[in-house]
This record gives sequence, structure tokens and C-alpha cells, in this order.
Amino acid sequence: MNFLESMLSFIFPPTCGICGKENKNYICNSCMKKLKEEKTYIPQIENYTEIKHCYIFKYDGTIRQKILQYKFKDCAYLYKMFSEFFVKNEKVCRFLKNYDIIIPVPMTRKKIAKRGYNQSELVAKEIANNSENLVYLNKVLVKQKETNTQSALTKKERLNNVKNVYKIQNMEKIKAKNIILFDDIYTTGATCKECAKTIMNSGAKSVAVLTIAKDFQKIQ
Ligand SMILES: [Zn+2]
Repeated sequence: MNFLESMLSFIFPPTCGICGKENKNYICNSCMKKLKEEKTYIPQIENYTEIKHCYIFKYDGTIRQKILQYKFKDCAYLYKMFSEFFVKNEKVCRFLKNYDIIIPVPMTRKKIAKRGYNQSELVAKEIANNSENLVYLNKVLVKQKETNTQSALTKKERLNNVKNVYKIQNMEKIKAKNIILFDDIYTTGATCKECAKTIMNSGAKSVAVLTIAKDFQKIQ
């Protein structure tokens, strides 16, 4: 912790992201217990045909509300709690040891200006800060144009919506590297798969996806 961070934590002590009570781990034991009781805390690594996916939660209940607040209600501070779930889970940490670089799913500059932050950047950066092997890179994968919000679309529309939307710059930085792509939620996987394809086409050795939650609802 640097000087500025210790001053800030003195003025604004760390709090639990769920109940708001002071807590140095950003999540208190009773809220953690509640998440487990809701059966949304299910840290998992799945192998899909083209990609590995690691996630912590089923997108439902309290954690769903928190992710929505984080994305749409100016609750940027919640990135601390979210990153904590990854760095405190042994299974996830063991998985992350196989990778060199963590890249957030990008937003356009216009969208970042509107929201004030890219929620995936904040969490990905914090995970890298707490990791011995992962380097955070945010100027490699870029979004070239604005798209419609994926959540309003059908499965097929989602695939078309993100097609050829991302590009790689500074390609040499990811060449022959094992990459973790970070996003907040995995639903149909359209965004993650398109990003992963773009990364692989630029010479990366491997790509896996890391998300806070997986949405199990069936999208038509
Ligand atoms: Zn709490």
C-alpha cells in the first residue's frame, strides 16, 4: 500500500461491498455466508469447445444486484470486493498461475466518458496488482465502434452485433503469451468469444475467459 492509499483508507475505511459495514477484506463473513446460502457462490472452471472459462458466481440474487449497481449506479468502489473474490479463492488462483497477461473487455472511449469508468478495467487491474504472474494490459485490445447493448438482443443478434468490433494494437505485447480476458458477466459468450478470436488471431499462445458471474438464463 502506498502513502496515498493508506491516507485514503484512513479517511475512507474499507467497507463490505454488500452491507456497507467497515471491513478490511471488502466482504464480511456474514455477507459471504449469505452469498453461499443463496447458492450463487460457485467458483468454477469450465472447458467449452473453444475456450476455458473461470467464474465465481451464478448471476442471480444479491450478487446480480451488486453487479448491476456496479455497472449502472456509479458504484465504482465495488471493484475492490469483486477482485477479492478472485484473489482469495485457491482454485481460481491456481488457474490464474497458468497465464501471463490479463486484458479487460474494452469499451469505447465515448462509453467510458459516459459511465466514468470501465468496470472490467478496474477489477482486472486489481487482480493483477494482487498477482505475482499476471501483467495488466489495457491498450492492446480496443473496441473500434459503438454497439447495441447485448442484453437487449437474441443470441444470433448478439453474435452479429460484436462481429469485427474489436482490434489489437501493440500486437508484439501479446505474441506467444497466455492471456486472461476479463469481463463482468458471461451470458451467451458472444463478446468473450469474439475478443478471444481477435486475440488469438494476433499471435497469442492461449486465451481463457475470467468473469465475475455466469448467467444461466437461456437466450433465444
Ligand atoms: Zn457485509
